[in-house]
Amino acid sequence: MTEVPDYSIVVPVYDEQEALPELYERLRWLLEHLDGDAEVILVDDGSRDDSYALMLDLNRRDARFKLLQLSRNFGHQVAITAGLDVAAGRAVIVMDADLQDPPETVLAMAERWREGFDVVYGVRRERRGETRFKRATAAVFYRLLQRLADVEIPADAGDFRLLDRKALDAYLAMREHDRYVRGMVSWVGFNQIGVAYSRDERRAGSTKYPFRKMIKFAADGIVSFSNAPLRLALGLGFIVSASSFVYGFVAILLKATGAFTVPGWTSVILVTSFLGGVQLIVLGVIGEYVGRTYIETKRRPLYIVNREAGLADRLTSPDRIVGWPPIHRTEAEADAEAPSD
Ligand code: UDP
Ligand code: MG
Repeated sequence: MTEVPDYSIVVPVYDEQEALPELYERLRWLLEHLDGDAEVILVDDGSRDDSYALMLDLNRRDARFKLLQLSRNFGHQVAITAGLDVAAGRAVIVMDADLQDPPETVLAMAERWREGFDVVYGVRRERRGETRFKRATAAVFYRLLQRLADVEIPADAGDFRLLDRKALDAYLAMREHDRYVRGMVSWVGFNQIGVAYSRDERRAGSTKYPFRKMIKFAADGIVSFSNAPLRLALGLGFIVSASSFVYGFVAILLKATGAFTVPGWTSVILVTSFLGGVQLIVLGVIGEYVGRTYIETKRRPLYIVNREAGLADRLTSPDRIVGWPPIHRTEAEADAEAPSD
């Protein structure tokens, strides 16, 4: 690497072909207005539409737009991490491809960074164009997380943020699979500050976070990955406990009306079914942690790189596993490195 840009803007992209043309225009605007040179790192998180072809075209039109393609969909949080791994800037900015995070706000973030802050996170003042359900669940979740988490995670802050190189390197040292990026960034400390912004409507395309992913994301945030069979016990526990309540209610009703009476039957049924449910819930929760521990013990790479444009020189970092097999090395280079005697 010869020149280091002041800013790297990391954008995770998953099936965003409709949003990309406008994103390009708005980012070009941003690059004009930032007080330093900047690069954009587009991370294609296994898109199934024409996003990759479109982004490759952007890279040809403007070399400041660099491109990393993952081998499949690894998820939003991992895609962000992949982009941060290759970012070279003295400060990096993470923002969504759908322009819900207004590029204009980045200027305000850059200002705070110049003042000496190491992490500048966006705080959503209002959320336009999001369903009432999403807003309500998000509000409940962030408050719950604040109560449960060991670190102070600011409420109503997403992944839209600026990180100084110092904070970024600290973040990148954490290679866990369970990546709740905003929580991890809070954990690294340093001088953090919020910048308020109003979250715009998604410009084009549809959300890549259906209800199911939101639940998973919430679990990652609180427990700190998925293990479906273990989770089955959890769901089962809830169903059994809920039906034990119904069953108990019916048993009491039958007793009260005198329709069916065997001495002790009501209480026995009630207690056994309730305890059975509780035990399954607890087992499920333990399973959740064991499952996560299991995933971490495998020590797999966080993601696998398929192709890149403009980033070949950065995929050689020996301390991070980016891309397997190492696509950037030619066979001759690999042979040269192999022990020769
Ligand atoms: N995204 C991604 N991988 C995924 C899901 C989403 O890279 O598996 C990207 C997506 O393209 C967007 C950002 O993450 O740039 C946020 O996703 P989205 O806007 O769908 O989430 P929402 O704003 O609805 O919560
Ligand atoms: Mg969005």
